[in-house]
Amino acid sequence: MKFEIITIFPDFFHGPLQHGIVRRARETGIIDIRVHDLRAFTHDRHRTVDDRPFGGGEGMLLKPEPIFGCAESLAVSPREARITGRATESVILLSPRGTLLTQDVAAHLASLDRLVLICGRYEGVDERVSEHLADREISVGDYVLSGGELPAAVLVDAISRLLPGALGNENSARQESFTSSGVSKSGNARAAKVKGNAHSENSKSARKNKNEDAPAVPDSTCGSGGLLDYPQYTRPADFCGMKVPEELMSGNHDEIRRWRRERALEKTFHHRPELLDRVELSAEDKNFLQKLRREAAS
Ligand code: SAH
Repeated sequence: MKFEIITIFPDFFHGPLQHGIVRRARETGIIDIRVHDLRAFTHDRHRTVDDRPFGGGEGMLLKPEPIFGCAESLAVSPREARITGRATESVILLSPRGTLLTQDVAAHLASLDRLVLICGRYEGVDERVSEHLADREISVGDYVLSGGELPAAVLVDAISRLLPGALGNENSARQESFTSSGVSKSGNARAAKVKGNAHSENSKSARKNKNEDAPAVPDSTCGSGGLLDYPQYTRPADFCGMKVPEELMSGNHDEIRRWRRERALEKTFHHRPELLDRVELSAEDKNFLQKLRREAAS
């Protein structure tokens, strides 16, 4: 997977993408990250990248010419080919007005070969970049940051760890929060084609892989099934009187499985109840949720 990051602050990326899994993925050639200085694509003495908005208003906008110029130097495929999925690359504008980045969106993007990430600054980016160059806009959350660099780093991290070979343990990605059963990084959405904007993309169809036979509702300690992850503990079993739950020490796999599932349901119920609507629930799960609802109501 190739990442091309377009930014006015290329030095920003010296830190965040040089640690842990992302660093290893770079070293082993699973990913290749190139950072492009937007100012190198200006043609005036002052290397101007911004200008005032037409119609007045606060602040400055990133001008279109350097961004289009940089994209041209990267020989990006026509926008139409990216939108229809004929090209296995995407040009993404990071924007608080974009589609929210979710694990499903990350899994879909992980199936492409190259991502060009445009980092906005100031009051944003001339709208023609979104209208005629980018094939999608992605937001990392409902808050406004001062630039697209942190969001771009978030995207690189979330996608890299889904690529085959990036994580040490083949099962780790399957067990995490938000990960529906059957999602894995083992070639996950490779076969999937981009179908228009990622906005409505449901990468379930893209998840046909070796986990196809995995049960819809996780029946082992493995697989969050789209819930938030369950709590985990390591040694010591008793830390200053704070004890690890007995169920986890029992060695009884069925009990451990049930405990983990209930805790995942509980966390999701309290912190992200809307996720429960999209999760496949067993009869056992439904009973447990009923109990949580009754407790919450009393
Ligand atoms: N005026 C804009 C905000 C501009 S913030 C608005 O109200 O929508 C400047 C740049 O930071 C944006 O162009 C974008 O690239 C980046 N940015 C800020 N918040 C972001 C978010 N939540 N997700 C993705 N990018 C974001």
